[in-house]
Amino acid sequence: MPVTDAPRHLATHYDVVVVGAGPAGMAAAVGARERGAERVLLVDRDMEPGGILLQCIHAGFGLHEFREELTGPEYAQRFFERVLEQEVDVLSGAHVADVTRDLRVKLLSTAHGVTTVDASAVVLGLGARERTRAAIHIPGDRPSGVMTAGLAQRLVNLEGYLPGRRAVILGSGDIGLVMARRLALEGVEVVGVYELLPHASGLTRNVVQCLDDFDIPLHLSTTVVGVHGRQRLERVTVAPVDEARRAVMADAHDVDCDTLLLSVGLVPDADLARSLGARIDPVTGGPIVDSSMQTTFPGVFAAGNVVHVNDLADWVSRESRVAGEAAGALATGARLVEDDIRLLPGENVSYVVPQTISRTRTHTVSFRVKQPIYGPTVLRVGDVHRRKVRAVVPPEMVTLKLAPRLLEGFRGSALRIDAVPESEEAR
Ligand SMILES: Cc1cc2nc3c(=O)[nH]c(=O)nc-3n(C[C@H](O)[C@H](O)[C@H](O)COP(=O)(O)OP(=O)(O)OC[C@H]3O[C@@H](n4cnc5c(N)ncnc54)[C@H](O)[C@@H]3O)c2cc1C
Repeated sequence: MPVTDAPRHLATHYDVVVVGAGPAGMAAAVGARERGAERVLLVDRDMEPGGILLQCIHAGFGLHEFREELTGPEYAQRFFERVLEQEVDVLSGAHVADVTRDLRVKLLSTAHGVTTVDASAVVLGLGARERTRAAIHIPGDRPSGVMTAGLAQRLVNLEGYLPGRRAVILGSGDIGLVMARRLALEGVEVVGVYELLPHASGLTRNVVQCLDDFDIPLHLSTTVVGVHGRQRLERVTVAPVDEARRAVMADAHDVDCDTLLLSVGLVPDADLARSLGARIDPVTGGPIVDSSMQTTFPGVFAAGNVVHVNDLADWVSRESRVAGEAAGALATGARLVEDDIRLLPGENVSYVVPQTISRTRTHTVSFRVKQPIYGPTVLRVGDVHRRKVRAVVPPEMVTLKLAPRLLEGFRGSALRIDAVPESEEAR
C-alpha cells in the first residue's frame, strides 16, 4: 500500500468530503470526481487507506469488481490507484469528530491539528463496529484473553502477535470463520466454533474452507454462558440452547482455553449520521438512504457497512460509487432524481437497501433473508418482478436489478420484496 503524504495545505472548501477510506470511501471519492466534482477530500483516521481490507490477508475479494481473486490489501491497492489517478486529496491519520448541519467537517489530525473544512456534500463511509462481550452479556470473570475476532485479526495479521495458544470462537460470522483458519495456520489449537443459531452465520464457502478443511468443529445451537479465569482466561462454560435460544444449563460443560474470540455481529458506525438527525433504519442500524444513497439529511450520503453490513467488498464498492456520483453531481449544481417508490421488506426479508427508488432509473437493490431456504426460491418484487434462485441464506446478501421497464405499468407508491420457497408459492 502506498503511504500517502498528508496534503500540506487543506483547502477551506471541498465539493465533496468523504469520511472513511475503506472500499466504500475510496469508491465514493472516485465516483464524485468522475461526476465532475473538482475538489474531493478523502479522510481516514488510520495511517493508511484501505479500511478493514488491510487486515484481511486472505483471498476472496474482487471477483466481481476486478474479475480476479485478490487478497484484501491487493483489492485496496487496486482501488487506491484509481483514487490517485483521480487526483483526490487524501488525508490519513485524521479523525472526523463532527459534521455540522451546515456541512462543516471537523478534523483532528497530527498533520493539521484541529481543523474545519466546508463541504457542498459529504459521504459517510465509516464502516461498522464489532459487537463486544458487553453487548451480548456473557457473565463471569473479566480475565485477559477475551477479544473480538477483528481485533485478533489485526493483532495477528498487522502487528505480528498471537492472541493465545488454545482458542474458542463464539459466533460463526465470517470474521470468526476466517480467524479460526488463521489461528490454526499459526499453530493455535482451535477447540471449536460455537454458534447460537441452528445454522452458520458466515458464508458457506468460509465454513468449508476455514472449518471443514481444518477439522475444526462447528457446534450449532450452542453458546458460551460463562467466562472463568483470574488473570488470564482459563476456561469457558458452553451450553446448548433450546428453540427459544435459552441456554439448557443441565447440559452445560466447561472447555479449557486461554483465548475467547467473539464474532457475534457488526453494527454500522452510524453516530455521525445520527448526530445530524438522519433517520436510522431500526433493522440495519444504519441511516435510511434513497436511490442516490442520500440520507434523510440533505447533502449527506452514506454507503458501505455504515448503511448495512455487506458480505462482499465488491458490493460495497458498487453501491458507494452511486453515493459518490450523486454527491459529486449535487455539489456541482445538478438536481438529483426524486424517488417515488418505497421498498418494504416483505415475507422472509429482514431489510431492503435503498429504502426508496425512482421508476425512471435502473437500480440494484440489496436485501437479506430472515430464514434460510435450501431449495428453489422465488424472489418477488410486488407484482412487477419475479426471479427464481437456487437457495437463499441469511449470511449471503441478495441483490436484484430493477429497470424502468419493469416499473412502467406500476401505479402504486410502495413495493414489497418477498423471498419464499417455490413450493409454497405454487400452493
Ligand atoms: C474478517 C473479514 C473478512 C472479510 N472477508 C471478505 C472476503 O473474503 N471477500 C469480500 O469481498 N469481503 C470480505 N469482507 C467484507 C468487506 O471487507 C467489508 O464489507 C468492507 O471492508 C466494508 O467497507 P467499508 O468501507 O464500508 O468499511 P471499512 O472497510 O470498515 O472502512 C471504514 C473506514 O472508515 C474509517 N473511519 C471510521 N470512523 C472514522 C472517523 N470518525 N474519522 C475518520 N475515519 C473513520 C476507518 O478507519 C476505516 O478505514 C470481510 C470483512 C471482514 C471484517
